[in-house]
Amino acid sequence: MRFDVISLFPELFSAVRDHGVTGRAHRQGLWSLRVWNPRDFTHDVHRTVDDRPYGGGPGMVMMAQPLEEAVHAAQADRADAPVWLMSPTGRRFDQRMAQELSEGRGAILVCGRYEGVDQRFIRRCVTHEVSMGDFVLSGGEIPALAIMDSAVRLLPGALNDRESAHQDSFHETLTGLLDSPHYTRPEVYQGESVPPELLSGHHANIALWRRRQSLALTLARRPDLIEAARAAGRLSKADEAFLASLKH
Ligand code: SAH
Repeated sequence: MRFDVISLFPELFSAVRDHGVTGRAHRQGLWSLRVWNPRDFTHDVHRTVDDRPYGGGPGMVMMAQPLEEAVHAAQADRADAPVWLMSPTGRRFDQRMAQELSEGRGAILVCGRYEGVDQRFIRRCVTHEVSMGDFVLSGGEIPALAIMDSAVRLLPGALNDRESAHQDSFHETLTGLLDSPHYTRPEVYQGESVPPELLSGHHANIALWRRRQSLALTLARRPDLIEAARAAGRLSKADEAFLASLKH
């Protein structure tokens, strides 16, 4: 898998390339990263990448031409790669998109700055607009980092058995539940014990406890995910009985 990132701040991407699970996967050759700076595709002495908005208003807008040339450079040997623009007006990124991305060959991720990018660049070059959520950041770099991290950790071999993604929140894409709470040593911390079910060594009881914790947490925080799981036929009779007992 290969990611190409278009960004005015290439140095930020060592965060995902050099550290943790994604850094290890990079060293193992499971994925590669190339970062392209639009400033290197300018043709004036000031290396201008932004200008004032037509129609007036505050801030600056990223010019189409340096972005388009950077995308073309990234596409030189991978013309079929999707081009994702980071944008709060895009489709909200989720675990299903991370899963699909991890099954493909990667993408070109374009990071906006300032007020955004010239619409003509979007029309000409961008295949998808993707949002991190209903909030505004000062640039697309953090969304691009998050997207790469979420996809790379799903690559076969990126996580070892002990780090398995199977129990993660949302794992069964949009019909998954939230993850159950985790505990590690010591058994008693500041007077608070680990739940006894987790100390029992009884695998079926532990699984039942985790399932019930997930169900209760999801019902409390994300009832929409309970509905989705029900509609997808992912709740057993025992799950439904437990959920019903919570409502009394
Ligand atoms: N004026 C724009 C926000 C620009 S923020 C608007 O209101 O829609 C500058 C850049 O940060 C954007 O071009 C985009 O690349 C990035 N960005 C900001 N918030 C984001 C979000 N929630 N998801 C993805 N990218 C975001």
